[in-house]
Amino acid sequence: MSFFRVRKSTAVALVSMMLLGTGRASAQDAVAPDDSNDRLVAELAEDENVEDVEQSEPRHASGIGTQPTGNSDNPPSEQPGAEPPTPPAEPENTETPRAIAPNIDLKEVAPLPEPEPAPDATEEQSPDEAPEPDSTGTGTPDAGGEPATKTGPLPETTGPVAAQSFTLLGKEILPATSTRLAWSPGIQIAGLSQITPVLVVNGKFQGPTLCLTGAVHGDELNGIEIIRRSMYDLNPEKLSGRVIGVPIVNLTGFQQGTRYLPDRRDLNRHFPGSPDGSLADRIAHSLFNSVIRHCDMLVDIHTGSLKRTNLPQLRADMNNPDVAEFTRGFDRMAVVHSTGSPGMLRTAATNAGIRSVTLEAGESLRIQEHQIEAGVNSLNSLMEKHGMISRMFVWGSPEPIYYDSTWIRTQHGGILFSDVKLGATVSEGQILGYVADPITNEQHPIRAGADGRVIGMAVDQVVMAGFAAYHIGTEAQIPGE
Ligand SMILES: [Zn+2]
Repeated sequence: MSFFRVRKSTAVALVSMMLLGTGRASAQDAVAPDDSNDRLVAELAEDENVEDVEQSEPRHASGIGTQPTGNSDNPPSEQPGAEPPTPPAEPENTETPRAIAPNIDLKEVAPLPEPEPAPDATEEQSPDEAPEPDSTGTGTPDAGGEPATKTGPLPETTGPVAAQSFTLLGKEILPATSTRLAWSPGIQIAGLSQITPVLVVNGKFQGPTLCLTGAVHGDELNGIEIIRRSMYDLNPEKLSGRVIGVPIVNLTGFQQGTRYLPDRRDLNRHFPGSPDGSLADRIAHSLFNSVIRHCDMLVDIHTGSLKRTNLPQLRADMNNPDVAEFTRGFDRMAVVHSTGSPGMLRTAATNAGIRSVTLEAGESLRIQEHQIEAGVNSLNSLMEKHGMISRMFVWGSPEPIYYDSTWIRTQHGGILFSDVKLGATVSEGQILGYVADPITNEQHPIRAGADGRVIGMAVDQVVMAGFAAYHIGTEAQIPGE
C-alpha cells in the first residue's frame, strides 16, 4: 500500500501541473495510476525536489489564513498523523523511574551512547491506538517541563522560567544538560543492531522544543554538518527550550552513500509510518513516535538529488498559517511554497500539529561550506526569534524571500551545459543552457519561461528528455503583508 501513498491521484497531479503552468506530466503520471511497479519507478526516479513542487497545490492568493492545519487532500484513512491534533493523552507509564541521561559537554569528544534495551517500548505502545498522544515525554504527569505548545503561539515569557527535565528515548534529561541518546528502530538483525545517535540539549530555561533531522536521505551530507555546528554551539546554561538533533536519520543509507533504505524505498515517503508495514514504514513509525512527536518545531534538512543543487531554501506549505508564520523566523532564506506530498516527514509532522519545514541546501554527496553556513545562520536566527538563544552579532533583521516556482525540463536527451549559475536572476526567454547531442552535434537551447531566479538546477551532466533541469522562482508576496 505504501506505494499508493507516495502521490496524489493522477488527476490532482495533472491539475496541479496545469495550474503551475509547468510542462508535461511524466509517463508515470500519465498512465497506469494503479500500477505499483510504475509507482516504485517514479519513487526511485525523482524526489521531492521536483515532484513536491510540481504536484503542490497552488499557494492561496491571500497567502495565509485560509486553511487549517492538515491538508484536505490527504488520503482520508491509513495515516494516523493526518488527524487533527486532539487534546493530550497520557501515554507514558509512570511505574519505572527513568535513568538519567549523562550530562555530556557536546563540545568534547565523548563515547557513543549505550544502546538502551528496548528503548522506546513505552513510547511506542500507544500512538496508533490512542489518538494523538501529546508527547512532551514527561516521565510523570507533573514532572516534565512545559506543555508542548504545538500549534499555539510562541510562549511569550516575560523572564526566563526554569526548565524541568523531560524524557526521551527512555532517558530523563535534566535541565541545563546536554546528552547523546540512542534511537534504534529495531528493524535490524538483533545481534548486529546499530543505534542511531540523537543529540539533545535541554536548556536551563523553559522554551519550545526544536527538532533537527538530517540525512533522511543517506547521501545528503550538508544537513549533518549543519546540525553538528548548530547543536555543538549551544550552551545549555543559556538555552531556553530544547533542541533535539538526529544528524543521520538514515544510517544505512549514509554508510552506503545512497539516499534510499536497504529495501530501496525512500524513507521520506513513509511518514508517519506504521508498526507493521514495510521496513520504511516501521523506521518512520519508530522515529516519528520516539522523537518527532516530542517537537514543537521541526526543520528537516535535505539537499538536491540526482546531481541537482539547491540554493539554500525552505520548502513550506504556505497555505498553512502556522507554517507560514514559522518561515518568518529564518532570515535571508528563500522560501518556496510547496504543500508537500503525503508521507514526507514535514507533511506528517505538520499534520500532527508540529510546525515543520524542509530546509534544502546544496547537492547530495558533498560538503559545501557556503550552504552549511547559510543553514547554520538560519537556524540560529530561528532560535533567536523564538527566544531560545541570543546572538551577539546580528546585522539588521533580514527577512526571508518568498517564491512561487516551476521546474523547466529538458526536451531532448544529450549533455547539459548551463550558461547560468545557481542564484542567477534570469528573464523570460533567456537561454539558461543547452543540451548538446554528442552524436549529431545538435544544440538545443533551454529558455526561462518567466522572469525569476534560479533557485535550483542540475549540474552539467548527461540527461534524458524530461529531466528537470532548472528550478525558477518568481518572487511572491510575503505572507501577512
Ligand atoms: Zn532529501
